[in-house]
Amino acid sequence: MTLMDSYTRSVELWFPDGTVILRAEETHFRVYSGILSLHSPIFRDLFTLPQPLDDEVYDGCPVVSLQDGAEELGEFLKVLHRWSYLSNLFRDNNVPALLCVLRMSTKYDVTKLRESAIDALRCHYPQDFLKRLSSSPPSTFPFLFPTSRAGASLAISAANVARESNATILLPGALLACCSINPSSLIEPWQPHPLRNHIHSDDLPGLAPQNLYTVLKARNEIILFTRRRIFGFAFIPRDIPDCHSPECRKVRSEWAIKMDQEHPDGWINPFSPGSFVSSFARFGCVSCLEEAKRTFDIGRRELWDALPGIFGLPGWERLEILEALDRGYL
Ligand SMILES: [Zn+2]
Repeated sequence: MTLMDSYTRSVELWFPDGTVILRAEETHFRVYSGILSLHSPIFRDLFTLPQPLDDEVYDGCPVVSLQDGAEELGEFLKVLHRWSYLSNLFRDNNVPALLCVLRMSTKYDVTKLRESAIDALRCHYPQDFLKRLSSSPPSTFPFLFPTSRAGASLAISAANVARESNATILLPGALLACCSINPSSLIEPWQPHPLRNHIHSDDLPGLAPQNLYTVLKARNEIILFTRRRIFGFAFIPRDIPDCHSPECRKVRSEWAIKMDQEHPDGWINPFSPGSFVSSFARFGCVSCLEEAKRTFDIGRRELWDALPGIFGLPGWERLEILEALDRGYL
């Protein structure tokens, strides 16, 4: 029995005539060194370096240990060995796998694959979110507005991978998704998550320190902006000149009290009207309904435009230019 026998063979990535065995954690992948070298200069260098004489060999194949997670390496190798796999990830909106592909393609310098992964992820962390919102409700952006623990964990992974892979164009959306997570959950250790385990090789749970600092700081700013500007019509009552209904002021303060009760950590989705507009449609006068709609629309547009800056990043236009420069388009 050799060391190899005590490890697991990948079910999907074990080609009997493969020329190299890659080991990640406890999983082995028997794949083709020529295909890896074709796509990745890092692998090309790795395979052309002279190997030590006592290097592990199994069934005539060199065994190479990598410091990657088995899942993330597996996703990456599947894409490199099966061209249709990437389009399956796109079709299935498989964001966890796309994050693995983004991280691995950046690390192993597979430029075009990295660009494809960023493009696919941009559909879920979009720069033109407000434009898309005009045809789809906020609920169609589950990765931007996570509502479950699994969704929150994925938001953390997305922010960490985007930061680590220098995919800055994805960061405002991913960090916004992290803002909707209760801060105490961000600071406390998290439940094990398969993707996260691979991302944090240093065992640091949760958000990467720079992301954590950014999110905690930005979250307060967004909460204040949301209350003052986006839903200010309810939280900071003022007289509306054409309103002659005593009922309206009551509707406004009752809505604000309800929001405070439902969101004890202060975070209200700034981009979803929720019950805000519909409350005035049902109980308010026409002037108040118009004012509610107007202030909500202006406020969320201002916030979206300011979002990258709130996270300490260059503005949207500059982020686009940086992404184009990175791809050699400019
Ligand atoms: Zn009114």
